[in-house]
Amino acid sequence: MSQYRYIFEPYNGMSSRYRCPSCNYRDKTFVRYIDTETGEHLSSDVGRCNRESKCGYHYTPKQYFEQNNIPFDKTKYHPSAIQKIVKKKPTSFIDDTLIKESLSSDQTNYFLQFLSNHFSKEIAQRLKEKYNIGTSSHWNGATIFWEIDQQGKARTGKIMLYDPKTGKRIKEPFKHINWVHSLLKDPEYALQQCLFGEHLLKDKTKQIALVESEKTAIVASLYLPDLIWLAVGSLSNLNAEKCTILKKRNVILFPDLNGFDKWTAKAKELSRIATFSVSDLLERNATEQEREQGLDIADYLLRFDYREFV
Ligand SMILES: [Zn+2]
Repeated sequence: MSQYRYIFEPYNGMSSRYRCPSCNYRDKTFVRYIDTETGEHLSSDVGRCNRESKCGYHYTPKQYFEQNNIPFDKTKYHPSAIQKIVKKKPTSFIDDTLIKESLSSDQTNYFLQFLSNHFSKEIAQRLKEKYNIGTSSHWNGATIFWEIDQQGKARTGKIMLYDPKTGKRIKEPFKHINWVHSLLKDPEYALQQCLFGEHLLKDKTKQIALVESEKTAIVASLYLPDLIWLAVGSLSNLNAEKCTILKKRNVILFPDLNGFDKWTAKAKELSRIATFSVSDLLERNATEQEREQGLDIADYLLRFDYREFV
């Protein structure tokens, strides 16, 4: 990743793109800069239009700081200067009633069905309550993984579909991923995602375990309950902005097979935020065949009786 403090805001749906302040083109063609120290935007005109030949607008952080007499040099940079230039929209939240409805729905939820079959009804219920696993009618049997922050507020929900027998994702004929905030069709919705399971961080005594998928976090929390299991959702979310919440905590990263090198690099990159270590549990135990299949922690754990682990 970039070693620069100011980078283009990573793509995260159309809410992370804007109207160009120069050509004001009808589509969102403008990408803004963010400060990786704070995760916040620079001024709304600092960025680049992707209509390179027709517009070509590119106002860099360096130009902005120079023109506003703010020292650009990071070491001389005063944090209070940032506060003045950031005009960030307050984060939007999902209405509580939507979450309650999804939690009390009596429609089929294939993922919960899988947990129920593999473990027991009681355990499925326990995990449902712990991680707020909702049910969606978006597809028959669909699950919602709510991203609930430390204040107990939902930033969004990821809707996914699993096979009730195998517990694997249904990716055919299409991937079956959608987002609650997208379905709201509210152009003003200011999405600020958080880590899945972040509401569990209230417990300050436990170490944190970070995995890629929501399913893995949920399953692993049963096998290794002494850790707080969180999921990043996708590897690109393993960044400084999302990880500020982990400040000064002890975090163990559990990459899926084939992800060890990438996660090790990330751990190094984020080391100023928290103490990261990378587990080689899978690397040590996987066979050649499993390596080819890209086994993940959940696949591995599900082979064992969780009671033997506890
Ligand atoms: Zn433009």
